Amino acid sequence: MSAIIDQTVETYGIENWGAGYFGVNRKGNLVVRPTDNDSLSADVREIIEDLRKRGINPPILLRFPQLLVGQIRKLQTAFRKSIKEFDYDGRHLCVFPMKVNQNRAVVEEYLREASRYDFGLEAGSKAELYAALSMEQTGESLLVINGFKDRDFVRLAFTGARAGKNVVIVVEKLSELDHTLNFTDEVLKENPKAKLPMIGVRVKLYSKGSGRWEKSGGEAAKFGLTTTEILEVIRRLAVAGRTEMLKLLHFHIGSQLTDIKRIKNAMKEAARTYAKIRQMNIPIQYLDVGGGMAVDYDGSRTSFESSANYNAREFANDVIYVIKTVCDDENVPHPDIIQESGRYLSAYHAILITNVQDEIETVVEDITPMKVDEDDPQVVKELYDLRESINGKNYREYYHDALEHREELFQMFNLGLISLEDRGKGEVLFWDVCERADGYAQQKKYVSEEFDELRKLLSTKYLANFSVFRSMPDNWALEQLFPIIPVHRLNKKPNEFATLCDITCDSDGIVEKFVDLHDVKPVLELHKLESDEPYYLAMLLVGAYQEVMGNNHNLFGVPHEAHVHVGDDGYIIKKVIHGATLGDTLAGVRFDRTQMHEQFRKIVQRRIKDGELSEKEGHELIEYYESEINAYTYLTPNGH
Ligand SMILES: *Cc1c(COP(=O)(O)O)cnc(C)c1O
Repeated sequence: MSAIIDQTVETYGIENWGAGYFGVNRKGNLVVRPTDNDSLSADVREIIEDLRKRGINPPILLRFPQLLVGQIRKLQTAFRKSIKEFDYDGRHLCVFPMKVNQNRAVVEEYLREASRYDFGLEAGSKAELYAALSMEQTGESLLVINGFKDRDFVRLAFTGARAGKNVVIVVEKLSELDHTLNFTDEVLKENPKAKLPMIGVRVKLYSKGSGRWEKSGGEAAKFGLTTTEILEVIRRLAVAGRTEMLKLLHFHIGSQLTDIKRIKNAMKEAARTYAKIRQMNIPIQYLDVGGGMAVDYDGSRTSFESSANYNAREFANDVIYVIKTVCDDENVPHPDIIQESGRYLSAYHAILITNVQDEIETVVEDITPMKVDEDDPQVVKELYDLRESINGKNYREYYHDALEHREELFQMFNLGLISLEDRGKGEVLFWDVCERADGYAQQKKYVSEEFDELRKLLSTKYLANFSVFRSMPDNWALEQLFPIIPVHRLNKKPNEFATLCDITCDSDGIVEKFVDLHDVKPVLELHKLESDEPYYLAMLLVGAYQEVMGNNHNLFGVPHEAHVHVGDDGYIIKKVIHGATLGDTLAGVRFDRTQMHEQFRKIVQRRIKDGELSEKEGHELIEYYESEINAYTYLTPNGH
């Protein structure tokens, strides 16, 4: 590999956050590697070119189901090893929380691999449960149901159980228990041998997680039963003679748990609670430790919000060790451990590809070559002198002088003392001084804060063909970081510093925080745009939550999607799903296509009647308007 490629790999931190799945090939293109086996890899640039030939233009969501499988295996292996190492008696079973990504392709691919380990599903709403009930699961796997439940939701859960699923209704509120007991009586009256759902209880732990979702845990959490409520559940079950239905104890202290210490504390508390209930002769079999395993988006391995200070193996070791120790101490059997990790399994498999459409200038550039002459105002001449004589020793002082002169320039303009041309000249010279000062500042070992700010101000804005709101909502809503890198030209040093703007007309539609090993970068190193070549960017690790939380701001709907398999002979595009058309997104806000077409036709016909348009022109307009209903909502080259 060339030294430059090594350098760009480091610049973007690919090896820090890539979990081994991503790399750069000799051509300088981004590659995806589905396994640790280096020989299998897919060139992302080639995939895009291939798709473009089929009329599929960016933005495109590339799905690599093999990366989902890779994560399932990593997690399963980690727990299998820990269980062996600590001589743990129970099993480790995952249930995939559908809310992370309910996309059918994702759930199906998950289940295909999951069936090898008896992993199941978790549903948090009626819709998710409904979908889950249509999927094949193995006989040992669970279907865990969380979230607030009404009578219909509980009834749907019973339907699933009677259809043979190992359904667990996790009681979040006492009313859910009453519905469950009532249905139990009803069902058993009809068939005393009917398969029933199991009951779980969600406990409200005192322990909290860390990071952005800290408030999901602790006393003030939205979900979970307090100690007295759990005792009440047990009492009511005893009265009904159904204590044997209580099979699972659940807790979930939040998503993206960044700090392993907090996780351990929660495990201790939950394990102790399990043990005490078990000692009351209640045959709880499962301890559900919830989700929350974090993804190291920035690769820093710290407890920073977009990172995690542990890996799968450490996580598994701590869970198994803590639960075993507490259970042995309390003399109760080791429970089967249920894990609801979604983010960890799903984040890696999806990549959003966008193209940089253009550049938005922030600094004022010289459009016509400029000369400064005798008649120019003093302030312009002084800025000119600064520009000509700035150097590595005086740049700080000269930069400060330029700031003052700019202030003066505007004051004089406002007083009517200088012309529009003078003002223009002054601005160009000011930004020239800034650029030169920035150049000198960045050569120094320590760059002071004011020059960091200046760099951000001078950075280029690249207009990227996507919607932050649609495809990276957590970046907008939560300042969650996602790795972003060019798909190609990685064998060339990126010399531009840029931030990204999306194509929504919202000034919040920007990305100006980027992953960095030690900090958060305010600008991203990118290549200069070439007029004759597209520039593609990849936004990675967007497979968890982003797709389903994304919204329709400005009516940019879902992007095109392609499912890619990586095999011995390179990649295979298994499936292409077209993104939203104008008609699709408009239907979402209740605009009916027939009605729009009729109304437009009427408007045009009136113009024809008034003699403002010929018949022919009118028909062309109508025809074009009607055909555009099927256009892609994003920017496309040459009107495709
Ligand atoms: C959201 C959620 C999960 C998934 O959390 P991740 O951080 O994606 O692993 C699991 N369980 C419950 C109850 C949840 O609400």
